[in-house]
Amino acid sequence: MAKKYEGRAVGIDLGTTYSCVAVWMDHHNRVEIIHNDQGNRTTPSFVAFTDDQRLIGDAAKNQVATNTGNTVFDAKRLIGKKFSDTVVQKDIMWWPFKVISGLNDKPMITLMYNGEEKQFCAEEISSMVLAKMREVAEAYLGSAVKNAVVTVPAYFNDSQRKATVDAGVIAGLNVIRIINEPTAAAIAYGLDKRSEYDRKRNIFVFDLGGGTFDVSILTITGDVFEVKATAGDTHLGGEDFDSRLVNYFVEEFKKKNRVDISVNSRALRRLRTACEKAKRILSFVFVTNVEVDSLFQGIDFSSSLTRAKFEEINMDLFNECMKTVESCLNDSKVDMSDIDDVVLVGGSSRIPKVQDMLQDFFKGKDLCKTINPDEAVAYGAAVQAAILSEGFKNVPNLVLRDVTPLSLGISADTGGVMSVVIPRNTTIPVKKSRGYATAIDNHCIVPIKVYEGERARASDNNLLGLFNLSCLPGTPRGQPLDVCFAIDDNGILIVSAKEISTGNTNEITITNDKERLSTFEIKKMIEDAETYQAEDKKFLRKAEVMSALDSCVYNLKNALKNDHYLMLSFQKSEKINNAITVATNLLDKNNKQKEVEVLEDHLKELESMLKNLQVQTG
Ligand code: AMP
Repeated sequence: MAKKYEGRAVGIDLGTTYSCVAVWMDHHNRVEIIHNDQGNRTTPSFVAFTDDQRLIGDAAKNQVATNTGNTVFDAKRLIGKKFSDTVVQKDIMWWPFKVISGLNDKPMITLMYNGEEKQFCAEEISSMVLAKMREVAEAYLGSAVKNAVVTVPAYFNDSQRKATVDAGVIAGLNVIRIINEPTAAAIAYGLDKRSEYDRKRNIFVFDLGGGTFDVSILTITGDVFEVKATAGDTHLGGEDFDSRLVNYFVEEFKKKNRVDISVNSRALRRLRTACEKAKRILSFVFVTNVEVDSLFQGIDFSSSLTRAKFEEINMDLFNECMKTVESCLNDSKVDMSDIDDVVLVGGSSRIPKVQDMLQDFFKGKDLCKTINPDEAVAYGAAVQAAILSEGFKNVPNLVLRDVTPLSLGISADTGGVMSVVIPRNTTIPVKKSRGYATAIDNHCIVPIKVYEGERARASDNNLLGLFNLSCLPGTPRGQPLDVCFAIDDNGILIVSAKEISTGNTNEITITNDKERLSTFEIKKMIEDAETYQAEDKKFLRKAEVMSALDSCVYNLKNALKNDHYLMLSFQKSEKINNAITVATNLLDKNNKQKEVEVLEDHLKELESMLKNLQVQTG
């Protein structure tokens, strides 16, 4: 029986564009999707910095057009990746915020906060979103939340998964399990339908979100949810469709007005927002307008967009999705006709053309749209969180069997060929061994390089770690070696190797590759996160005190207008007027020198004056 964690646990869908948090409610026997302070069930994965405050979620997204360079989104596209990665380089061209290369080729987001330049890695930005989701949950539950199950795209590689765990640690959350988004969605869907599942059913999950695309094939047999195959693209989703529209309209604007707006990030952002809106509308109507007042150099932009044009502009991307669907089916060895349900997940799965193509692919099969595509992932994560935790009651009894998304192996010979030990889509936990032999004579130290990926040449794949195995000196090539790969429930890989003739062994736990944050860096980021949180609190406190001071000044001025005021002595009235002048100066928005303590002292003084005045004037 797996270890159970103590304390409140929630499920968090940490999305590229939106995030969602959910919790298992004992007394309702179901999952509750938790709404945020704005009343929304999903929260934008946006973080913004202004001259004096940090904003997360809706507040950050709402001000993006006026604060483009200091509003960060899409951190999930950077997490666990290198700055030099070609995909990262392409993304950077689109983002209005600055990304530079940090230590070990780590991408660093550069922002201005409180008049100072600050650098953040993707884990830190994601941690701020996770902390916000925790706050949302704590406000709803009225108690502290310690643990979370966080979801990632099925196709996330080892470093992306571990970087997500690190983001949780920085946010002060214990990530008790990382699960794949489509698996989580299948739990949400499957739980609903379990009563109908008296026999084994094959489920195809099609998850097209804001930034990532995942497909998975699962079988549900009674309580056992088993992933058979998974495939996807960590860089395909709604934002790519938006980018295509933006490109299209930038060209149109150029032709009409002979000016290029692509040099202006604010204009691009405003156009993008309008394009996203149009795209959503086109899922329900056939034609819509895209309008942005004074888009660039005072020129208004207005155009119309048909659903057919939207589809034409994005057709190759939709085709890419279908190719992935096909390859996942091939991998799973499940025949198309044996798929019982095709489940839609992710906001972009609402696009009618995508649905038509998928339905055609499955020879006219009805698609399951009964679960809300934006919430299904968090729903499933919350169920898993309850299963792994102590103290939850009435939790469905289900067993989750996931697979490795990428093949794992070593660079076996001097030719540098990738020798796969665990093929992709193998059910975890798993332990597998393979025999090798030393490649050259007198090989004292054999370096074992561990990779993940599907490319034939090992160095084209992602290097996860390296360790050395010592052999017997003076022996000819061909000495037998045994290499063993073991992956636990959390997807943590341990690789060990043994030289048979000497019995020498060595092993590594692939938990800390070089792109991953060190313990020291994480500690520093936790401290920074606490500082930012304290500053946020201070800012809010200041805003509250300023508002109270403002209304106190207003009430005092009104009270002075009362006839009884004439009875006040000259000294008293002068004292009150002076205090009002000081307060008005403190409230002036150009006065940056006001400390919250000074404001509070003054508020107290004004409040007592107002009280006395009210007593005197009856
Ligand atoms: P998710 O990551 O699942 O929250 O999906 C967010 C993505 O879904 C964003 O790119 C949205 O623009 C997109 N989306 C949401 N609703 C619709 C819709 N009605 N039609 C097309 N795309 C949508």
